[in-house]
Amino acid sequence: MGSPLSLLVVESDTQEVFRLIREIKTHGFSPLYQVVSSWKDWEERVVEEDWDAIVCSMDWQDGKTPQDLLSDLREKKLDIPFIVVAKEAVLGNALQVMRAGAADIIEYSSLFRLPLVLERERRELVYRREKEITTNYLGDSLREIQFQKFALDQATIVSITDASGIITYVNEKFSIVSGYRKEELVGHSHRILKSDEKTLEEWKEMWEVIQKGRVWRGEIKNTKKDGTFYWVDTTIVPFSAQDGSIFQYIAIHHDITDRKLAEDQLTHDAFYDSLTGLPNRALFLVRIEQKISEYNLSSKGFPIVVSVNIDNFKRINNSLGNGSGDDILRIYAKRIESVSGSNATVTRLGADTFAVLVVDFLSLNEANDFANKLLDYLKEIIPYNGYEIYLTASSGIAAFGMAGKEAEDILKNAEIAMFHSKESKIGTVSIFSQTMQEKIHYQLEIQNDLKKAIERNEFVVYYQPIYDLKEKEIGHWEALVRWKHPKKGLVPPVDFIPMAEDSGLIVPLTKYVLDDSCLFVNEVSFVTDKVSVAINLSAEVFQHQNIFHWIVDVHNKTGIPFSSLQVEITESLAMKNMNETIPILSNLRDLGVKIALDDFGTGFSSLSYLEKLPLSIVKMDKSFLNNVVPGSKEALLLISIIHMAHDLGLKVIAEGVEDKTQFDLLADYKCDMIQGYLIAKPMALQEAKEFMQNFKPIS
Ligand code: C2E
Ligand code: CA
Ligand code: CA
Repeated sequence: MGSPLSLLVVESDTQEVFRLIREIKTHGFSPLYQVVSSWKDWEERVVEEDWDAIVCSMDWQDGKTPQDLLSDLREKKLDIPFIVVAKEAVLGNALQVMRAGAADIIEYSSLFRLPLVLERERRELVYRREKEITTNYLGDSLREIQFQKFALDQATIVSITDASGIITYVNEKFSIVSGYRKEELVGHSHRILKSDEKTLEEWKEMWEVIQKGRVWRGEIKNTKKDGTFYWVDTTIVPFSAQDGSIFQYIAIHHDITDRKLAEDQLTHDAFYDSLTGLPNRALFLVRIEQKISEYNLSSKGFPIVVSVNIDNFKRINNSLGNGSGDDILRIYAKRIESVSGSNATVTRLGADTFAVLVVDFLSLNEANDFANKLLDYLKEIIPYNGYEIYLTASSGIAAFGMAGKEAEDILKNAEIAMFHSKESKIGTVSIFSQTMQEKIHYQLEIQNDLKKAIERNEFVVYYQPIYDLKEKEIGHWEALVRWKHPKKGLVPPVDFIPMAEDSGLIVPLTKYVLDDSCLFVNEVSFVTDKVSVAINLSAEVFQHQNIFHWIVDVHNKTGIPFSSLQVEITESLAMKNMNETIPILSNLRDLGVKIALDDFGTGFSSLSYLEKLPLSIVKMDKSFLNNVVPGSKEALLLISIIHMAHDLGLKVIAEGVEDKTQFDLLADYKCDMIQGYLIAKPMALQEAKEFMQNFKPIS
């Protein structure tokens, strides 16, 4: 059996077909062939099989020429060797056929060539097909690699280094991210990008892994050409030659700088104050703990914390705005840092409170000197946007041992000592003591119990009479609230009013005092027809016009005349929110409610307020009566205030009159009314009724 050959023979003459086949067979082929005799035949057969060759007679005719068949093959995209056999190759025809794509033309006279040509064509066909397959495959692979490389280059930073770590290739992204041109990198080692973030040890470990031919993965912080940093998540793949030696490393890096920066920011935010950049409370506590353990080991560097609070800082925020407040806090922070030195730790604990963990002080005296020096510097004038800011600061000191052995306790006690300074003498330094703690403890308890006091009905209103010097009778009273604490007994208002104001409890409390005052007026008016009660107002009750609505409601409900009610306000309250308070006060005055300015002389005592506010009465603070003897400076001041108030159409009440001398002086100076222990102490309703019944004018 010869080699098989599938053949399509285009020839109408059967004799000729036999000749051809015989010729082919004699040369060792085993042809499997089909004969095409018409165009229709051709069209069917040519696509029927994967022909090794087509042998076509030049004389074949069914209205078509061999050229037509060739162009049909092209159209059908069939690559089959097409061999033409001709009686005699007329040159012109032969050329046309060859041009049309025939593989060869063979004359019948030299038909012996046919098997050779078939052999040759079959070889070439195989070769062409293989080539096509390879080209396609190569093209596909190349395209695939290009796609992968493109994708890789978009997303990753790629570098290749040789066995000794010298860079031999970097992609474009590497250049863009690092800021170095390719030429600046190739030929150098990666050290050019190194930052000090990894230790020598860590680099060594990395090299050990990759030199052993293993893949290394990790995060690396690199330095850009401009000196800034970038972070990469890196995979280094070592490539080894056939002998096992490594000849190159391919490193694929992902830029993770954004993530790293966000992480860094988070850790920074967790330990540093964003306004001043100082360590925050959490980090400060860690530093105290470190100091404590150092001290426990070596007995050196006695841990001492100095806390500092800027006095009345709220005023800056209120007058200049929070933005300026922030600027000024930063200035204070800088001042504290500069006095404390670089070894101390300074923290901002919150708003306007700072603390310093001082170093290497041997005694509390030294710490005390330091704190005083600090306060002196803090109160130096700050020039700011054309203003001169002058504020004092108060300080507290707590040391390891007597103020606790835990960081938390020491810090807390330094703050307690600082609060103590504020309460006893603003702008000074206090060293923590046990009694301070007890006092704070008491205050905390009060604060806690206060919340329940109103529901438990623990408040009682006392009334203090006010004597009219001209009429020689008691016409007015002041309502003063008391708290009957179940365990602590009678708690004075100074101990809880500020807390009630802070917590908002003052709002229901004032309403309670107002209701009780109406009861009082009704009860006492059985004894005397002319009676009015003054209630003290805090800023909080002006919100939502509370006080105005209450007074109108209580008048409608109980029929109490407006003229029987007075309200007392302080200068600082009036100043706080003039736009809101003045209209409410004016409305109250228009109803007939009298407005008194309380504690005159203790605050700003600005005379301009006397004019701006819709007042009827000025209450001179008790301090005006100190050292008043006829002819003294103090007496002159008293007289001039009384005159001035009268000029403005206001009545004057002197507060805190305790003896007859003061009484006589005030009567002399034409003061209108007096209030004080000389007349009576504040008392409960029942007592007040008895007091009225037995009252005799003072002469
Ligand atoms: P204030 O309005 O100046 O009340 C006068 C204070 O002086 C009262 O103290 C009174 O008992 C006291 N006092 C009266 N006469 C004399 C005297 O001759 N000598 C001395 N040494 N003191 C005298 P109290 O009752 O302890 O009240 C203190 C402050 O608490 C009041 O000062 C007032 O500001 C506030 N307060 C009292 N009750 C209320 C209230 O219902 N609401 C508000 N917002 N504050 C209140
Ligand atoms: Ca008062
Ligand atoms: Ca007063």
